[in-house]
Amino acid sequence: RNSMKSYKEDFPLLRNSSIAYLDNAATAQRPEAVLKAEREFYEKYNANPLRGLYQLGMDATDCYEKARETVRDFLHAKKSSEIIFTRNTTESINLVAYSYALNNLKEGDELLVGIDSHHSNLLPWQMAARVTGAKLVFLDCEMDGSYTKEAIEKVITGRTKFAAITHVSNVIGRVNPVEDIIRLVHKNGGVVLVDAAQSAPHLPIDVCAMDVDFLAFSGHKLMAPMGIGVLYGKEKLLDEMPPFLTGGEMIESVTRESAVFAELPHKFEAGTVNGAGAWALKAAIEYINSLGFATLQERELALTTQAMEELKKIPYVNIIGSQDPKEHNGIVNFTVEGVHPHDIASILDGAGVDVRAGHHCAQPLLKHLGVFVTTRASIAFYNDEEDIHRFTEAVKGIRRMMGYAE
Ligand code: PLP
Repeated sequence: RNSMKSYKEDFPLLRNSSIAYLDNAATAQRPEAVLKAEREFYEKYNANPLRGLYQLGMDATDCYEKARETVRDFLHAKKSSEIIFTRNTTESINLVAYSYALNNLKEGDELLVGIDSHHSNLLPWQMAARVTGAKLVFLDCEMDGSYTKEAIEKVITGRTKFAAITHVSNVIGRVNPVEDIIRLVHKNGGVVLVDAAQSAPHLPIDVCAMDVDFLAFSGHKLMAPMGIGVLYGKEKLLDEMPPFLTGGEMIESVTRESAVFAELPHKFEAGTVNGAGAWALKAAIEYINSLGFATLQERELALTTQAMEELKKIPYVNIIGSQDPKEHNGIVNFTVEGVHPHDIASILDGAGVDVRAGHHCAQPLLKHLGVFVTTRASIAFYNDEEDIHRFTEAVKGIRRMMGYAE
């Protein structure tokens, strides 16, 4: 591909519209290949996966299990039985909170949560702490969003039985030192879950090299349809956990009073599964693989650099987190002094630029940073310089539009 613009051609919504879509961290756009795969499942393979013993039913099962294998390869997991399909990151994290934490934590234990957690990686742990009597402990970040070695070493102790850590925060965008945290928690006998909702779309993940116990991400942030998500778990831990949801298709046998649960991964996939979603997630991963993360990262960095350099020139604009574009993974969160983010977002909307405004489902982090509400532009590789230019030009005019002299 020669032209920077050409990636948009792969995305029907972007191809047919003039908006500058800069809310990719909320949900990505879908390329043609993904839309085609979802339709292909219903047109060619549609039957209830994991049930039908007729050819079409076996084809549907085959699609679903091939998708699982693609995800296994994407995460570099050892076995596809360690890949559980869920609806999204939130459900994956709740599965671990209910099935692992409630059965393994007790009073006196500590449950460590990063202050940069999305509410989806905080509320399930608040619940687990409340139910088990374990203490919720926070790993606090610096004002630029980074976790220092000292902070990590101070907070992880022999009492840390579980840690829920964010790989890349949806507010800050920086890659957290998850390997260091995992190593230290393991040394102390604890277990770690990594929320990879914002990292999976931007960087290669190797669960074995990370030695992570659980890892969650959502398909929709990775250009797959909404309603398909993933939980990776180490086989030994998943094997020991009771099912999260119970019902059809997660059993070996059922009597009037009891049931024998199915083997992994089906033990955790109760009810009719999202066959088309899984098939389309496979297509999304194949699309990413065909481009390569290096290409994605190079383009995202160029666009993020353009955005940050322009924003830095505008008086009264402050960028949250690191001032180095390399530490943002496309996430540029900012404030404009004296202007509420909801006003910023509507002014930008008027200029054809879609951004997110508010607390970004991370209220404790924003309180810690002392900003409360911000505006977030989140950039994907399929954005182009024109999108970024329109965005920064529109930001330049915001204070004047709100009645300020400059
Ligand atoms: N974790 C992080 C870091 C996120 O950014 C998000 C979504 O914005 C989530 C979790 C929740 O993802 P989902 O709504 O797909 O469950």
